[in-house]
Amino acid sequence: MTMEGRTCVITGSARGIGRGIAEHLGDEGANVVVNYRTSEQPALEAVEMIEAAGGNAVTARADVANRDEVEHMHEICHEALGPADVLVNNAGITADDQFMEMTREEWDRVMDVNLGGMFNCTQTFFDDIWNAEEGRLINISSVVGKQGNFGQANYAAAKSGMFGFTRTIALELAKGGSTANCVAPGFTRTDMLESVPETVLERVISGIPLERLAEVEDIAAVVRFLASEDSSYVTGEVIDVNGGMDL
Ligand code: NAP
Repeated sequence: MTMEGRTCVITGSARGIGRGIAEHLGDEGANVVVNYRTSEQPALEAVEMIEAAGGNAVTARADVANRDEVEHMHEICHEALGPADVLVNNAGITADDQFMEMTREEWDRVMDVNLGGMFNCTQTFFDDIWNAEEGRLINISSVVGKQGNFGQANYAAAKSGMFGFTRTIALELAKGGSTANCVAPGFTRTDMLESVPETVLERVISGIPLERLAEVEDIAAVVRFLASEDSSYVTGEVIDVNGGMDL
């Protein structure tokens, strides 16, 4: 077990990619904070699954865009499982529109959750990660942050913003022996893709050298590597997990 006794906070981990990360890290012996905003029941189920596999886990409701709620999550983490060794900023949303139709509200909503949430969580847990032996910050970006995507100017701007943030925090954490990295998933089978028509997904798949969408497990396996001590000398990087989309 590569994560035995390490405390990991994963934002948005009741479902989707975050849930896969929580289960993978739990399987490796980590103590897991399962953060959710609306999905309470799935969060409780995630905790049950991790505990059934022999791990420790706790739910923490917090809207990552709300600093007070994030600070409350930090208290829950400390009381139940101790300081965090690993923070995974995974919570994210889309609000798509062609740029000239995009409202300022759609722009702000995406920035508040994807970038504002990362700011709130990273600042709140920074001292934990700094003080941890080999602390880890892992930000879940997107292939869209690199390539752009029609109708996603807000999301693409937020996701590429994560790259510069991660490189900077990597520099600021390095003296303490902790690392910061990004994972940039390609199109991954979760609720986030539900609104995308099957014909569009078929077109996407035809442009992926590995000829399939990502499964949650594909992303979680890379996060598990970055969270473990196997990645000690990797920092400030963006790891693409996209089936070769950019080849
Ligand atoms: P998803 O299935 O739509 O799930 C989104 C998750 O984010 C949920 O757990 C949700 O929690 C949480 N969340 C949203 N707003 C939140 C907030 N304000 N505070 C706390 N939690 C919040 O999405 P996903 O596909 O798993 O995506 C996870 C991450 O991967 C996102 O950052 C996304 O941008 C990125 N990503 C996804 C894909 C893809 O194709 N699926 C590709 C590249 C990158 P509740 O359910 O509790 O509200």
